[in-house]
Amino acid sequence: MISATPLPLYAIGLGSNRRHVRHGDPRQVLLAALAALESDDIEPVDASPIIASEPLGPSRRQYANAVALVASPLSPPDMLDRLQGIEADFGRRTGQRWSARTLDLDILLWSGGAWSEAGLTIPHPALADRAFVLGPLRAIAPDWRHPLTARTIRQLAARLVRPKPVDRNAEAH
Ligand code: ATP
Ligand code: MG
Ligand code: MG
Repeated sequence: MISATPLPLYAIGLGSNRRHVRHGDPRQVLLAALAALESDDIEPVDASPIIASEPLGPSRRQYANAVALVASPLSPPDMLDRLQGIEADFGRRTGQRWSARTLDLDILLWSGGAWSEAGLTIPHPALADRAFVLGPLRAIAPDWRHPLTARTIRQLAARLVRPKPVDRNAEAH
């Protein structure tokens, strides 16, 4: 058989800093979320180790973070819709950026390149500044080039050897 055109790849960032009544602690929430990502048109390709990281913004709880690579023909807006549906299934309340949340699913990268519209920016604008994203992403996609800077994930991660202390005031406004 002639090989099919490879499906587009997405890197999805997963974060949790709240227990889920059924799934358990943030780590268990991420394992359940990784399983929930798989569907007819979302094929899991790889997943990073789950790391613990310090909170961003006003919430004081610890985060669990991970990154998944998935192959999918979905357009970026359709992928965002799907991710928001999964967040809702996990009981995420909307309108509370950076607050304690059961599950955050962000589109970090898309093999189609950059995407920019109201409510959806790819690559994720904070990607290059976040050690808790670049660390897990480097574990599974070190050679992926950020389409706007042309730097690899390995190069971006090397710039952030240590996580930067969070300036809560700057992040909260
Ligand atoms: P941050 O974006 O700094 O990680 P957050 O993930 O806590 O913050 P959310 O409350 O999850 O922010 O999302 C706020 C909005 O960000 C969403 O409604 C969505 O429309 C928008 N958004 C823009 N670009 C993206 C992206 N690449 N992935 C996910 N959401 C995005
Ligand atoms: Mg986020
Ligand atoms: Mg988000």
